[in-house]
Amino acid sequence: MNTTENKYACIMHPEIQGKLNDKCSQCGMFLTVSVPEKPEKLDSNGKKLNHNRNN
Ligand SMILES: [Zn+2]
Repeated sequence: MNTTENKYACIMHPEIQGKLNDKCSQCGMFLTVSVPEKPEKLDSNGKKLNHNRNN
């Protein structure tokens, strides 16, 4: 299904994301900062490959 559901993040903790007015698990504030949708095909980090086990 294609639901255009916006994500929201905590203003203090951008990594904490959820629905609007969800509570941040870190500080308990409401998630009110809208998070722009990121296309999953674009790797902004490029270092997220966990298939490499160098030891
Ligand atoms: Zn927070």
